[in-house]
Amino acid sequence: MNKHLLLILLGTALANPASHAASATTATATPTAEPGSTVLQKKHVGKLAGNPFTSASKLPYQYPAFDQIKNAHYAPAFSEGMRLHGLEIVAIANNHAAPTFENTVIAMERAGQMLNRVSTVFSSLTAANTNPEMENLSRELAPKLAAHQDQVFLNARLFQRISKLYEARQALQLDAESARLLERYYTDFVRAGAKLSDKDKQKLKSLNAQLASLGTQFSQNVLKETNASAIIVDSKAELQGLSEEEIASAAEAAKTRGLKDKFVIPLVNTTGQPFEASLTNRALRQRLHEASVNRGSHGGEFDNRQVAIDLARLRAERATLLGYANHAAYGLEDETAKTTTAVNKMLGELAPAAVNNARAEAAELQKIIDAQQGGFKLAAWDWAFYTEQLRKSKYSFDDSQLRPYFELKNVLENGVFFAATKLYGITFKERTDLPVYHPSVKVYEIFDADGKSMALFIADMYARDTKRGGAWMNAYVEQSSLFGTHPVIANHLNIPQPPAGQPTLLTFDEVRTAFHEFGHALHGLFSNVKYPRFSGTNVPRDFVEYPSQVNEMWATWPEVLKNYARHYQNSEVIPQSLVDKITAANKFNQGFATTEYLAASLLDQRWHQLTPAQVPKDALAFEAAALKQAGVDFAPVPPRYRSTYFSHIFGGGYSAGYYAYLWSEVLDAESVEWFKENGGLNRKNGDWFRQQLLSKGGSMDPLLSFRNFRGREPRIDPLLIRRGLKAE
Ligand SMILES: [Zn+2]
Repeated sequence: MNKHLLLILLGTALANPASHAASATTATATPTAEPGSTVLQKKHVGKLAGNPFTSASKLPYQYPAFDQIKNAHYAPAFSEGMRLHGLEIVAIANNHAAPTFENTVIAMERAGQMLNRVSTVFSSLTAANTNPEMENLSRELAPKLAAHQDQVFLNARLFQRISKLYEARQALQLDAESARLLERYYTDFVRAGAKLSDKDKQKLKSLNAQLASLGTQFSQNVLKETNASAIIVDSKAELQGLSEEEIASAAEAAKTRGLKDKFVIPLVNTTGQPFEASLTNRALRQRLHEASVNRGSHGGEFDNRQVAIDLARLRAERATLLGYANHAAYGLEDETAKTTTAVNKMLGELAPAAVNNARAEAAELQKIIDAQQGGFKLAAWDWAFYTEQLRKSKYSFDDSQLRPYFELKNVLENGVFFAATKLYGITFKERTDLPVYHPSVKVYEIFDADGKSMALFIADMYARDTKRGGAWMNAYVEQSSLFGTHPVIANHLNIPQPPAGQPTLLTFDEVRTAFHEFGHALHGLFSNVKYPRFSGTNVPRDFVEYPSQVNEMWATWPEVLKNYARHYQNSEVIPQSLVDKITAANKFNQGFATTEYLAASLLDQRWHQLTPAQVPKDALAFEAAALKQAGVDFAPVPPRYRSTYFSHIFGGGYSAGYYAYLWSEVLDAESVEWFKENGGLNRKNGDWFRQQLLSKGGSMDPLLSFRNFRGREPRIDPLLIRRGLKAE
């Protein structure tokens, strides 16, 4: 079973890939309940002629024929794909022959290909390039998807076959990857409710359907609310502090919205908004910040307060039904963390130190305000602004000095790709002959060190209203030797489109994100497994961020930096003095960064460690109490996401899993140490990382692959030192 299909079936796919994660591919949709019986389906009979999803794409690597795909193709392809998958599942379950690994488990891996094709493209494009018709279809399909999931996993005969195989697993003499696949299937079925009574299965189905609809509603609300909350500014004078290019972009954004002689500042996903760092007008900063934090909680049609509460309650009820103390306990069991105790312990231990650091940083910022006779107390909307001033005075540079050295094409081709070439020997060639779904999207073919063509890479870098916020990776085609498929991997960023004729100059954060997402891409590209179920980034959530975070290290690696960080006008290499400053500034503002992240992670855990009876009636009051109780209620540093726009956890696949970034960072920090100890950027190191870790996907215990790579158990110290939580 392909990862994408599995995500759909297990209902764990993100309806909003607001995160960085590969497993954050969306999967908001799937077809109808009983094969051959639904209205949706009948309506579309005979409409499949010419539907590009009926067979694998004929393009290289089965790259999707984006130019052939129309809105009208999705619904009939989903119906038919689900019908076919349903029939395949019934045939496997009702097979008269005794169950074998081949006729049951492998047969399931092979089933559902059409459904997989359409859902992969649909979910990717609802995230990257959506339209109202797709949004409607997405809502319509969400509960049907959940029903289809239940139809597979609550099929008693099918589970019987898998159970029999599982019980006899010692005698089957399977190779390690196959044995793991059988165990995985068994676990997936049990976790999906296969052992419940018929009555409880009915309850579960109803919960799953409601959860699917609400999750989709939540993330659609976030997207619409974020677009609707853009700040309209009347005069250029108010925009003091922004660059001419930024002002031009704001004017352009206003024009696009049909506003004459105005300026529009669009919001990004996170609580903090980029322009808070440069706007000198404090009132406007406050307006911007308040528009951001009030998203989804000030009434109106996109309000998410009740949606969040309902999601928390239904998840708690489902966990109870499945025999778990709460939703987090259910989710974490399948992660490398395993228990809520382990996660609470880590978050609880780090929070006080992080908040202390943030308080110390706040005191420094207050000193600047006082020295300038500001006459006010530092507020959340002042943080980035005075932090920039402090950065300037401490390290004597600011982001605007760096940006001319970070031109997008340079960053990607001479930075991100260059590092990968140095480490793994792979090379890149742009393909302009393949269709794209948006003119700004680029496609590259990737060749392995021996010169053999190995994959396609889609670079979708620009922000637009039709795209979810954040950055993420997804696989259009996953590597599998069972299918003989090679990867087609996409990276998505949200870099503001510059005014026509202007170069795309990145902030250093955006540069780092480009490296990060490509780390996920490498995980997909280097996958070398048999079963699609284990391909690439199909690993636990709290492990998936590890390779991507490791890849960030190359953004500031001197040899890489000198290759890509060249002034866009005269190709001058970034001065060493600036490089030193970037490196020195790495630990700067870590109290803030760690606190806002921990606050969001703790919030996530609080919402998902509730029993049904404990679910609150007032979402914002609950949030405030949870932050206070966890000791992270420090007003100048609000959580990175507040509950009502926290799509990671309410819209999709990171529920009870937002801690995963920091958890993965333990392994990341260890691995960065390893690369440094072993000579850094070279083929030997890259090949070892690829062989021991990146190629394995989920085909073995991820912590075992880490130990094989690193040669020992992970220690937390490198992370604590990096985050300024422990002295070097
Ligand atoms: Zn990521």
